[in-house]
Order: sequence, then structure tokens, then C-alpha cells
Amino acid sequence: MERTLLIIKPDAVAKRTTGKILHRVTREGYRLCALKPERLTPETAGQFYQVHREKPFYKNLIEFMASGPILVAVLEKDNAIRDLRRLIGATNPKDAHEGTIRKEFAEDGSKNAVHASDSPQTAREEIAFFFPATHFS
Ligand code: GDP
Ligand code: MG
Repeated sequence: MERTLLIIKPDAVAKRTTGKILHRVTREGYRLCALKPERLTPETAGQFYQVHREKPFYKNLIEFMASGPILVAVLEKDNAIRDLRRLIGATNPKDAHEGTIRKEFAEDGSKNAVHASDSPQTAREEIAFFFPATHFS
């Protein structure tokens, strides 16, 4: 079993699609280990997305991520990390395949509804970022 982090981003929370997105992932066999609403500040959003600090879209990204409430979930199943990346689809919904979460719910390549961890290391770090010292059962 493997765990990964899913964030339902401010655009999707504002459009009230959180229920549909959570239904989608649980229907695909993920177990919901943890779930909490959060509100990032530009500082905490900047910390979370440190890896992108040199990118031209960084400022826009942290402003967006701090623009409203988000919903953070820890999801568990076999191959959760790889499979959730496939389920969310490409960063830009124009490139996302039919049936993916971003194809259905993303507005554009910035306001793209969800985040999912992209490797075992980032999954560990991102889960610890939002759920420090939490024992999941
Ligand atoms: P992800 O792993 O598929 O979420 O994509 P990345 O790690 O490359 O980028 C992180 C997030 O930054 C994306 O999910 C988007 O919200 C945003 N982003 C990525 N590329 C762009 C871009 O070219 N322009 C803008 N405005 N935002 C972007
Ligand atoms: Mg990424």
C-alpha cells in the first residue's frame, strides 16, 4: 500500500466540485486516510511550491494557491502515487485525456483543480507538510 497527497485547489473548492472529485477518487479504489480544509498564505504556498521558485509562473501560482480555501487529502492504495497522477491528467486541461479529473474540472493550466504528489519522496514530504507527526490508520 502506498500513500499520496491530493489537494483540491481554490478554483475547484470555489466551484463546489470537491464532492465530485472525492467521489471520483474513492470510486477508483483509493482509501481516504485524512482530509482537512486549509487556507494557505502566500508564505505557506511558497514553501509548498519551493521546487518552482525559479519558474516564471511561481508568483502567479502562489497567489492562486493562497486565493481561497483548499481541501487536502491523504489517499491510499497500491501504486497510489503513479495512479493518481494518471487519474488527474496533464497539467493543462487542453492536454489532459478524456476521463481525467483535470479534463473534467480544470479551467486552464494554472487553475487546474487539483494537485497530486509526483514521486515517493514528494509524497512523503507533502504529507508531512500538511499532516506533521500524524499516524495514519
Ligand atoms: P503538476 O505537477 O501537474 O501540478 O504541474 P507542475 O508541477 O509543473 O506545476 C505546478 C502547478 O503550477 C500546476 O499545477 C499549475 O497550477 C501551475 N503551473 C504549471 N505550469 C504553469 C504555467 O505554464 N503557467 C501558469 N500560470 N501556471 C502553471
Ligand atoms: Mg508538480
